[in-house]
Amino acid sequence: MMYSFNMKTRVIRLHMVGAGGEDLAALREAGALIRRGALVAFPTETVYGLGANAFDAEAAAKIYAAKGRPSDNPLIVHIGRMEDLPLVVEGGIGTCARILMARFWPGPLTLIFPKNPQVPDATTGGLATVAVRFPANEIARRLILEAGVPIAAPSANTSGRPSPTTVAHVIEDLDGKIDMILDGGEVGIGLESTIVDLTGDRPVLLRPGAVTAEMLEEALRGALYPDTGSPGTESLGLHPKAPGMKYRHYAPRAQMYVVEECADIPGLARSAAESGKRVGVLCTEETAGEIDKTCGGGFGTQSPNRLDRCMGKCIVKCIGKRADLSTVAAGLFGALRDLDHLGVDVIYAESYPREGIGLAIMNRLVKAAGGNVISGKAGERM
Ligand code: AMP
Ligand code: MG
Repeated sequence: MMYSFNMKTRVIRLHMVGAGGEDLAALREAGALIRRGALVAFPTETVYGLGANAFDAEAAAKIYAAKGRPSDNPLIVHIGRMEDLPLVVEGGIGTCARILMARFWPGPLTLIFPKNPQVPDATTGGLATVAVRFPANEIARRLILEAGVPIAAPSANTSGRPSPTTVAHVIEDLDGKIDMILDGGEVGIGLESTIVDLTGDRPVLLRPGAVTAEMLEEALRGALYPDTGSPGTESLGLHPKAPGMKYRHYAPRAQMYVVEECADIPGLARSAAESGKRVGVLCTEETAGEIDKTCGGGFGTQSPNRLDRCMGKCIVKCIGKRADLSTVAAGLFGALRDLDHLGVDVIYAESYPREGIGLAIMNRLVKAAGGNVISGKAGERM
């Protein structure tokens, strides 16, 4: 299908949703655009989404074209109110679904159900199942209600790049390729939604997120299969069922490594810098000082983040606090993009405990690194 990549993309800043007529008029216009088959990027509580009418196969095809996304990687369908679930889902809603919806919707949790035939195959990448989310973000909810149709929306980035957490990221990837961008400021969570598959015998966690495995376990009283994407779960004979999981994701242009022993990072960074590489380090407030000390001193602060340091060929980016991992989640994708702009050749990222939101952070980091994990002694690869 022909698709224009040099259209005019309008960016509309929304302030307090509901407070002024201007916002309402913009949301109404954006909703009408979506209903008629256009593409509109919008904020959610997780990352920015690229929205299209979920019932319109041609509009779904436009999403794949604009993102350069493989057509077998299905989209998540967003609803604006609980009552609209039957529009996209086939059959009854089971007990686990009811529990999870009551507890976590609206919010950053996507559930997989059998697909209603009304939803075209183009939206679900040819699958007989459909991923559904009811977002909490007020702009997202109102946009869906104004559109009057469920909105199919993957993350609003070029396929394979880090997901967008600000409007600047969306513009960077999609300017000229989509009709409108709603600017709602920075998103809160910064990582994509948790995905749970409810179409099998037991619920399966397909992608960890801000609704954590522990929260799901607690709600479901232990009836949750482990994350199929985590190292070690291959031995359980589980296969990743989220088709998107097979693609390299969230990837910066540099070669990236996740370093299990944070203490090894300064040495790794220094030897790479000494061999002439431009090095980026992703660390936290707690570890930045130690890395600074080893990698040299007398450097000036550069880049918008106050704690970033530039030491000759080594750029240290502090993305949040270990003591509050939600700050790391919020800072991660933006930091990967920043390091791309700085043109680093190699990135060493600190690792995190695989629990709570740490599991989602590690999932995205390891994917961004294409599976490169340096564990135990420095230089030894998992
Ligand atoms: P994105 O919105 O870009 O984060 O991508 C949506 C994710 O949801 C992809 O990883 C898909 O594989 C996953 N997904 C969407 N629909 C389904 C489905 N019906 N079954 C399993 N995974 C799905
Ligand atoms: Mg995505």
